[in-house]
Amino acid sequence: MADVNQADLYGLWQQLDTLKLATPNIGTVTDIICCPGLDFCSLANASSISVVKEINEALDDVDYQHDIGELTINMSGCMNGCAHQSVGHIGILGVDKKGTEWYQITLGGSSANEAAIGERLGPAVAKNEITKAITTILDVYVKQRLEEESFLDMVKRVGITPFKEQVYADY
Ligand code: SF4
Repeated sequence: MADVNQADLYGLWQQLDTLKLATPNIGTVTDIICCPGLDFCSLANASSISVVKEINEALDDVDYQHDIGELTINMSGCMNGCAHQSVGHIGILGVDKKGTEWYQITLGGSSANEAAIGERLGPAVAKNEITKAITTILDVYVKQRLEEESFLDMVKRVGITPFKEQVYADY
C-alpha cells in the first residue's frame, strides 16, 4: 500500500497491531534481516527464523533496543548469504557440523559508505548458545562504549577481542 489517508492511519495501525505487525523497531537491534533458513529453503545448513525469534524475545524491551541504538543483525542459513550476513554489524551464518546446527558470528560488517566485511569472532557456537552469545556481545557494547559511540564505531575502536573474551569465557 503506497499511501494511506491520514484519517485511516489509526485504524490501520490498530489492525496491524492485532496481527503483531506494528512493532516500533525500525533500525533497532530487533529489526533483523533473516533468510528463510532450514524451515523453507532446501539449501540451508541451519535454521534462521527460530533463532531470530529467540533473539528477539530475549531483547523484548523497547527501552533497551533504543538504548542500543543503530545496530544491524543479518542472519543467513548457509554460505549463499542471501541475508548478507557478512555486512551486518553482527552477522550470523548457519553451518552444519555432522548433521547439527551451529552458528558462525562476525562483527563489524557494514554495507554503508565505508563498506566492510565482518571479522569472524571465533569458533561457531551451538544452536542453544547463539542467543546468549548475541546478548553477551550487546552487554559488552553497553558496558564499554564511549558516550554516543555506536556499536560499529566501538568495534572499529577496540576490535573483536573484548567481545571474544566474553562470548567464549565458558568454552
Ligand atoms: S542463505 Fe542459504 S538458506 Fe538462506 S535463503 Fe539463501 S540459500 Fe537458502
